[in-house]
Parts: sequence; structure tokens; C-alpha cells
Amino acid sequence: MAITNIWVVAEPQSGTFTTTSLELLSHARTFGATVSAITWGDGGALAAQAGEYGATTLYDVGDLNGALPGAPVASAIAALIASSGAPDAVLVPTSYDARDIAARLSAKIDRPVLTNVTGLNDEGGLVTEHPVFGGTQTVKARFTAEGPGIIVVRAKSFAPESAGGAPASVVSAPAGDVGATGAATIVTSHVEERTGPKLEEAAVVVSGGRGLGEADKFALIVEAAKLLNGAAGASRAIVDAGWVPYSHQVGQTGKTVKPTVYIACGISGATQHMVGMKGSKNIVAINKDPDAPIFQIADFGIVGDVHKVLPALIDALKARG
Ligand SMILES: Cc1cc2nc3c(=O)[nH]c(=O)nc-3n(C[C@H](O)[C@H](O)[C@H](O)COP(=O)(O)OP(=O)(O)OC[C@H]3O[C@@H](n4cnc5c(N)ncnc54)[C@H](O)[C@@H]3O)c2cc1C
Repeated sequence: MAITNIWVVAEPQSGTFTTTSLELLSHARTFGATVSAITWGDGGALAAQAGEYGATTLYDVGDLNGALPGAPVASAIAALIASSGAPDAVLVPTSYDARDIAARLSAKIDRPVLTNVTGLNDEGGLVTEHPVFGGTQTVKARFTAEGPGIIVVRAKSFAPESAGGAPASVVSAPAGDVGATGAATIVTSHVEERTGPKLEEAAVVVSGGRGLGEADKFALIVEAAKLLNGAAGASRAIVDAGWVPYSHQVGQTGKTVKPTVYIACGISGATQHMVGMKGSKNIVAINKDPDAPIFQIADFGIVGDVHKVLPALIDALKARG
């Protein structure tokens, strides 16, 4: 079955689309289908970026007046499907708001959702890939019923690549009355303070695990990351222990990263951690146990004490200037 029409939920964030949205737009156009984006807020301001990444039409739900996006955006997409016909698939980034949209849309149009997708190919119709058993196996799935399938894709599954297209034409797609489901409004929002690049976008990630021994030692990770103009990551063990916020967590239930260099410090290499970083171009592991599983995927391994190796690395980086 030819894939002719794909819609992408493109999340706005501070005057741009989120990186995952750009990844989905980029991948959607590889099928040779007509790609449309659906956004909210000030859609007109994002027409150029939507077009640059391959969308020809940008459906703009408009100002949500402080409402959470789930109900109004799902309602707008359902209305679009009713008025202009269904696409082959609606691609949705894995994020809190977009997952809310996917779930509500599924209920509204009575179509199933495939989640935790990390691959999407044309095999005579769209076929999704899902990592299972901590990323050691891949399951493939496809919708057998009439479309549109709703497909929720994890960050970093595809590369965001500009196509250099002309600005998308903006079409107003109001949500209409969503009744009580739209009653919840955002009262306040908190943006976590961060210096340096975002974890998911950094070219260098230095991550710490339980081998650091105590919470204060995470400062070594932060310092090394800063000197390398990178970001600090963490294993779930030290997030669960309360040493660092969840926003640093790399892995199955955290963030997926694909930096040029990933330095794992005192991290054993559990499959749930590795699934979030094994796509890194170069993996460096520092661990005192030569049999630690992380060495099986490391390009460069240092068998040693992080409390000696990290300070030496930091000194060397400082000396380099
Ligand atoms: C459903 C589920 C989801 C999960 N999701 C995630 C996830 O998203 N991300 C994640 O990271 N984990 C996740 N986990 C947890 C995962 O299974 C591991 O428990 C966790 O990754 C271990 O973290 P760690 O490597 O820091 O700790 P450990 O496994 O305890 O390893 C510590 C390592 O430090 C080394 N070490 C100790 N002292 C030193 C020293 N002085 N110098 C050098 N090395 C030293 C040890 O040799 C050891 O290899 C998940 C688990 C489950 C069940």
C-alpha cells in the first residue's frame, strides 16, 4: 500500500519546533509522501521551519489560552480528519504533551496507537520497530486496520535534516469546543536552569553512575562535561538515589543520546542504560571492574578508579586550556 500522506504533530517550544518534531518531519518526507505538520500557539511564525523540514502544509490550532495541548489539539486533528480525510499515519513525538494528544486522538477517532517506536520503514506499508527486553531485541509491528495509525516515536530515532523547502502554507485548524476536557489550564511552568548544551543535543556527554560513590562526586562529572563543552548524564541508580534530577537520566526510562563521544564513569552497563546511549559514535568507559558489561560496547576502556581517572582527565583538560 503506497504511503501518500503523513501528518506530524510538531510541538512548538520557545519559537521553534522541538528537535524530536524536526526528526519526525525529516523522516516522514523520506517516504515520498505529502507531509503536513500540526502545531499550536503562533503557527504562522513556524511556517518557514515547517517547510524547511519538509512539510507543505502547517495546520495551526492557534492560541490555546493557557490550556494543556492534549484536548484541543486532539480535537482539532479529529476535526481535520473528518473534514479533509485521513492521512496514512499521524506521527507523534514521545513527550508528555504529545503523548497526551496521541491518547486522546486515539479515543476520539477510535484508532490504535503504537508507542515507543524507534524505527519506521516502508515495507509495503508502514512498519514500526520497537526495542524490547532492554533493547536487546526488536519487534516489528504494523496496523492491519484502515488508517490512520497513530505512531509515537522516541527522540533520536531519526536525524533532523533540513530539506531547504519553501515555507509551509498555514491553514487554521481550530479545536472547537472541547467542553470540560479543556478545563485544565497551565498556572505556572518551571524551566530547569541549565548551562551548556542540552543532554539530548550535546556532542559530548559525560555520565556518572553509582561507582562515583556519593552524590557530591557528581560535581566531577559536571566539571568534566563543562570543560568538554558537553552535558552531564547519569544512570538511573544515582537518579533513584536522589543524587541528581531525573532530567539527567540516560536510558530506557530516561533520555536517548547519540553524541560523538559518550564517557561512562562508574556505570556498569545494564541493558536499560545501554539502550539509551549505545548509538553514540565513540564510547569511553571508566570502571574499576574489567568485567563490567559497559566494556563490551566501549571503543575505549579505562580499568581504573573514577576518583583518580576523572581528576586526572579534568587536570589534563584544564592544562590544554
Ligand atoms: C524497567 C527498568 C528501567 C530502567 N531504566 C534505566 C534507565 O533508563 N537508565 C539506567 O541507567 N538504568 C535503568 N534501569 C536500571 C538498570 O537496570 C541499572 O540498575 C542501573 O543502570 C545501574 O546503574 P549504575 O551502572 O550506575 O550502577 P551499578 O550497576 O551499581 O554499577 C556501578 C558500577 O560502578 C563501578 N565502580 C564502583 N566503584 C568504582 C570506582 N571507584 N571507580 C570506577 N568504577 C567503579 C562498578 O564496578 C560497577 O560496574 C532500569 C531498570 C529497570 C528494571
